[in-house]
Amino acid sequence: MLPFKLVYHEGYDLHLGAHVFPSQKYRLVQEALLRRSLAAPEDFLRPEPAADEDILLVHSREWVRKLKSGRLSAVEMIRLEIPWSQEMIDACWLAAGGSILAARRALGDGFAANLAGGLHHAYPDHGEGFCAIHDVAVAIRRMQRDGAIKKAMIVDTDVHHGNGTAAIFGGDEDVYTLSIHQENNYPYPKPPSTLDLHLADGTGDDDYLAILEKGLLHAFQEFSPELLFYIGGADPFREDQLGGLALTIPGLAQRDAMVFDQARRHCAAVAITLAGGYARDLKDTVQIHVNTILAAREIATRRPLAS
Ligand SMILES: [Zn+2]
Repeated sequence: MLPFKLVYHEGYDLHLGAHVFPSQKYRLVQEALLRRSLAAPEDFLRPEPAADEDILLVHSREWVRKLKSGRLSAVEMIRLEIPWSQEMIDACWLAAGGSILAARRALGDGFAANLAGGLHHAYPDHGEGFCAIHDVAVAIRRMQRDGAIKKAMIVDTDVHHGNGTAAIFGGDEDVYTLSIHQENNYPYPKPPSTLDLHLADGTGDDDYLAILEKGLLHAFQEFSPELLFYIGGADPFREDQLGGLALTIPGLAQRDAMVFDQARRHCAAVAITLAGGYARDLKDTVQIHVNTILAAREIATRRPLAS
């Protein structure tokens, strides 16, 4: 049994078929955790879809109406890069509900993971790059509205810059956003995060980990969050089809452990989301995401949250 909860729903799969975005990975991560006895059935929680009221804490009424009715313009469809379907909409609302549940459980247990989400390219009024709804922003706004937290930090290690995150929280002194990503990659433009760590093409484990460590130390010197949301992309992996960095699987696991260790040292609860992952071999993407959960288990066991 794990020392924290995993949030999962079979509706996370968008059923995109042969698309480069392997949304079946959510099920494969869940199955791998169970098959390898890394998690037990009772470790899993099943989320409810987010209420529209929660989605509207971040997104415009117009965008929510368009998504629900399927009336997206041709330009909006192209930017989103995944076809509209009722399954896709249900998966987005479930991802947001899952991140709300993970945030709430993280605040109680120190850690929690939503085995989906991290939809960091979604803006308040449009979607981009496979992301229609910003589940992490919805969860943070809901926790703030409930009075459960005031200050949150987002640490985004997906290979792609967190443009939606930066746009949503730009100028908000209660939410610190850190993005470490490949500079010469989607998205363009990149609105400024609180701290952007722009990496050169081909950056490998050692340089990556040194830059991330410096960035985290700086972030925690400047800001004390009650909740840290981790957007743990698998796509900085050297075999990723949409990434141009050169991290190894062990390097990615060290990355995760570094983020969780720093969060613990600074008494922040950690809610994990998975984000991108497009490795040539889907098994690698699944392994990288499973390793994120194992890194959380290791840190949660080794370093209890100070009260
Ligand atoms: Zn990505």
